[in-house]
Amino acid sequence: MKRILVAGFKHETNRFCPHPADMKAYGKRFGEDVFRRAVGTKLDVVAFLETFHELKSEYELVPVIDFDATPSGPVTRDVYELAVSTICNTLTENGPFDGVLLSLHGAMAAEHEPDGEGAMLERIRGIVGKDVPIIGTLDLHTNCTRRMAENATALIACREYPHTDSYQAALRAAQLMRETLEGKVHPRMGYCRVPYLLPLFPTEMEPLRSLNAKAREMEKEPGVLSVRINHGFFLADIADLGMSVLAITDGDAEKADRLAKALGKEIWDVRGELVRDLYDVDAALDEAERLLAEGGDLPVVIADASDNVGSGAIGDTTHFLRRVMERGITGCAISNIHDPASSERCFEAGVGAEVELDLGGWSDPAFSGGPVHLKGRVRALTDGFFRNVGSVDKGNPHNMGRTAVIESAGNTIIITSKGRQAHDPASMLCCGVIPSQQRIIIVKSAVHYRAGFGPISRAMLDAAAPGYAVPKPDGMHFVNWRPVDFE
Ligand SMILES: [Zn+2]
Repeated sequence: MKRILVAGFKHETNRFCPHPADMKAYGKRFGEDVFRRAVGTKLDVVAFLETFHELKSEYELVPVIDFDATPSGPVTRDVYELAVSTICNTLTENGPFDGVLLSLHGAMAAEHEPDGEGAMLERIRGIVGKDVPIIGTLDLHTNCTRRMAENATALIACREYPHTDSYQAALRAAQLMRETLEGKVHPRMGYCRVPYLLPLFPTEMEPLRSLNAKAREMEKEPGVLSVRINHGFFLADIADLGMSVLAITDGDAEKADRLAKALGKEIWDVRGELVRDLYDVDAALDEAERLLAEGGDLPVVIADASDNVGSGAIGDTTHFLRRVMERGITGCAISNIHDPASSERCFEAGVGAEVELDLGGWSDPAFSGGPVHLKGRVRALTDGFFRNVGSVDKGNPHNMGRTAVIESAGNTIIITSKGRQAHDPASMLCCGVIPSQQRIIIVKSAVHYRAGFGPISRAMLDAAAPGYAVPKPDGMHFVNWRPVDFE
């Protein structure tokens, strides 16, 4: 019987966000709860279980931890040490293990360790030695460092943004573990850092689409197991920010390095095209009104990317809400405003009641836009629980906390008590708000919303208002990033 340690420890750190990922912020599962909690989801561990399901008599998957938190400021030392020491203690006290299978993000900065995954992988490698495969999943927004690449046997990121293929990436990672333990392949991973700060950039757009196609072509070469482009996450503001390429071959380290470097150089050479032109608040509303004036039924969706909770923002900014009200726009749904106090006011008032609120803008006067004073009627009150219906994390559960829907001056506003990226139509449907019946939908999401809202909208307009998660690095003040040239 071969034994594989299974653990998940994820975070996407935004060092511009002042709120840390502490014990309270983290969902923490231990032991068998890791598998129990994943039932019915598309989490990585389900892909791991699926891969080894038929081979139960030959492999034992030993779940240790699954720690996950919404993107935010750095992971606190106590959370980080609890997660890593639980994994390391299991390896030393309950070993030996034949493999280590990890569910990671790859852009984690802890308070005391900016390269969170690199340091963790180094500690694990130090315990298991060089011959035990350490294989992990990544999000393509990983700031993958050389230390990460050198201490893992194989790292597999999803390759689409919106991340419609995370489950496939997890299946691929588990399959590589199986084939490695069966002696069928000997993964060798090549790494190339591309020290360019990529804005949040959909993979359906050029030149990323062609670069991804090149990676797939390389994978067709004999002996090549995986070639993937990582986008990096500049909001993490660590020294080694940037894109990277990971190429994995069967037994040929030199070729893996060569492929990674060749594709890395191609990315570097077209970096001048890897830029985003984004709307400001009024330009986005102008364009939406222009498109609506052309007629047709489907709504226009505007992405308020800078306040995307999924990139470490708070979800309370009011820049769009304020201008929608001031301009007298109607038929607009805002999904959503994170404001626990206003949500509670609506619950106290009850469905059908008139409320007067100072809505949103509570987190940071410099960024949030301040509260908007408005009167409205409470339309619905819900527990804020939903499962995604779109192709990003389909079926995965999400919780916005106690959630109120109000109607104000002809517009619909969803008010949540927890911060949650509204990238999936289910976040509206669970409150009784029908996306197709809106003229304009304003979502606090950067790119993921395109998967779920694309098919039901006439246009998607990406905007950059003030916020903690501005979707492009231009003009930002980095404290820790060390710009370097391509090597
Ligand atoms: Zn991502």
